[in-house]
Amino acid sequence: MEILQRLISGNHSTTPSVQANIVMHENSEHKALLTSADNLSWIVDYGASDHMTGNSSLFSTLNSCNSSATVTIADGSKSPIKGVGTVKLSEKLTLTQVFYILDLKCNLLSMSKLNKDLKCLTVFESNLCLFQERESGTTIGCAKLINGLYHFSANKPSHHPHPRESISLSYPCCFSSNKIGDVMLLHYRLGHPNFGYLKHLFPNLFINKKVDDFFCEVCQLSKHTRASYIPLPYVASKPFSKIHCDIWGASEVSSINGARWLLILVDDHTRLCWVYLMKTKSETISIIKQFHSMVITQFQTQITNFHSDNAKEFFNKDLSNFFSFNGIIHTSSCVYTPQQNGIAECKLRHLLQVARSIMFTSHVPKFYWGDAILTSAYLIN
Ligand SMILES: [Zn+2]
Repeated sequence: MEILQRLISGNHSTTPSVQANIVMHENSEHKALLTSADNLSWIVDYGASDHMTGNSSLFSTLNSCNSSATVTIADGSKSPIKGVGTVKLSEKLTLTQVFYILDLKCNLLSMSKLNKDLKCLTVFESNLCLFQERESGTTIGCAKLINGLYHFSANKPSHHPHPRESISLSYPCCFSSNKIGDVMLLHYRLGHPNFGYLKHLFPNLFINKKVDDFFCEVCQLSKHTRASYIPLPYVASKPFSKIHCDIWGASEVSSINGARWLLILVDDHTRLCWVYLMKTKSETISIIKQFHSMVITQFQTQITNFHSDNAKEFFNKDLSNFFSFNGIIHTSSCVYTPQQNGIAECKLRHLLQVARSIMFTSHVPKFYWGDAILTSAYLIN
């Protein structure tokens, strides 16, 4: 602020390369700061009411402005608004209603307009200014502090960044070397597994690095939990002898196929899970029967124990008859004690965490939750 005021008042003897001005609309007062800078860099300005640039080559669309609207700059001279258009700063940042001002020697990024249009938050660090999505907290852009001003560098129009590069563009402060970038890229691609697990898989990437050195903002957002339960000792069994089951739903948003519920079946021995999306909860019975047939045909073994919570979908005549006919023992947890159905609950929680992380990172609409869950199951298995 002090620097801005010093620049605005004309006292810029300490930084002679920087010049400053106030920009005003004709009727109402709007302030902005000007500085000489390279043509691609945008200055984050919390005083400007609109985005402005004097460089017409930055626009992806530009319509000429016929009205006599002008802006007044600090020396008192008025400059007409030559056009209004759209500027694409990066994959995630597109500025709309950007004014083309012929005499402007720099590009101004209006913080208030950006926050309003893109529904984002602006976070100031000591040498960085981050723009974050309000809903997910994802960083969509970052400006660096140079000579007391926050500069946002736009991508060159023809440049399509490599995934590794695009991640490091979004999270510039987290990546200091390629190895860290590689680890984060793998972390993203594999559905946000914990870093200890990644170290086990890719020890070469963790040479001279500790697991604690890595931090993923998305994981923090998507994996909030209550304190964990005390784990029960693992009772050895053979594959498919005991199956844990749970239902999740109803989802607020239907998936792309119209599903609102989720049925998971977890094998106690291998902890592999099978996930089914359901349009109604009544599909549970037919899915369990199908699963039972699949186990017999594909793995030549029998389910001996089926464990679920007390949902009424698991306690009905049809399913009871099926279990007794096949000699399967059905056990259930006590009422209001989901901890006793821990294995299915934990697996479900893990699935939802990974699915949420995938959706946060890839910015897909909510109705893709079903596909995110199926992808998570694949990745976890
Ligand atoms: Zn993560």
